[in-house]
Amino acid sequence: APILELDDVGKSYGNVHALRGCSLRVRQGEVTCVLGDNGAGKSTLIKIISGLHDHSEGVMKVDGEATRFGSPREAQTGGIATVYQDLALAPLMSVWRNFFLGNEIRTGLLRVLDIERMKQICHDELAKMGVVIPDLDRPVGGLSGGQRQCIAIARAIYFGARVIILDEPTAALGVKQSGVVLKYIVKARDAGLGVIFITHNPHHAYLVGNHFVILKLGRVVLDAHRDELTLQQ
Ligand code: ADP
Ligand code: ADP
Repeated sequence: APILELDDVGKSYGNVHALRGCSLRVRQGEVTCVLGDNGAGKSTLIKIISGLHDHSEGVMKVDGEATRFGSPREAQTGGIATVYQDLALAPLMSVWRNFFLGNEIRTGLLRVLDIERMKQICHDELAKMGVVIPDLDRPVGGLSGGQRQCIAIARAIYFGARVIILDEPTAALGVKQSGVVLKYIVKARDAGLGVIFITHNPHHAYLVGNHFVILKLGRVVLDAHRDELTLQQ
């Protein structure tokens, strides 16, 4: 069963219909790629799923139940985590502190765990996904964009995400760093997460995607799984 379902979801800002009649299924163990030009409604879709905006029409279901998230915190509690372009990392803070940043109160970790233990968790979680950062005391600001993306994603997974929404994670990266992040996306998928991969880059989408959704002027104009995309002669 899909973890996340949208049925005929719409959103208007005044008389601008940013999204209309949007139906979508997101399953765990799949990368759902959402493509579309500027103004297509991608951000609006992310904001609805991540609890920043309420939808004006239609139904959103999580685990089969109609849901309206009142805030990103609520979405996160439901296992839906969004990794925005700015990543919400503090550049001057160390890798391991960033890893726990924002989750200290929720988990009581800063009180319960000692620093060495926290560094170990951070190291292990990144290593699991094939990312090795030799010095976890380094400020994240000195790392590559690809490594920063991976830290933000690993953090979301460690703190209970079942679905991660990645907002243009490769947009600011070169070929090599994009490769690091794309590999990481595949690992997250194979670990059983649902991944929503928002991108402008059809090549990146095709490299890692199982499921492709194209938005145009607020509408879904294509929704296909990989095996439905065979090229016709
Ligand atoms: P994308 O992320 O694909 O570029 P958006 O979801 O940002 O698309 O925008 C979809 C449409 O909704 C655009 O026409 C945009 O101008 C409009 N829009 C987005 N947010 C707002 C807002 N807060 N108020 C008014 N119009 C908005
Ligand atoms: P809300 O009040 O529901 O939080 P806002 O109107 O403040 O929504 O807008 C949310 C985001 O959309 C902001 O980042 C804003 O800059 C952006 N936005 C506002 N108007 C537009 C528009 N016409 N097109 C695209 N984005 C917009």
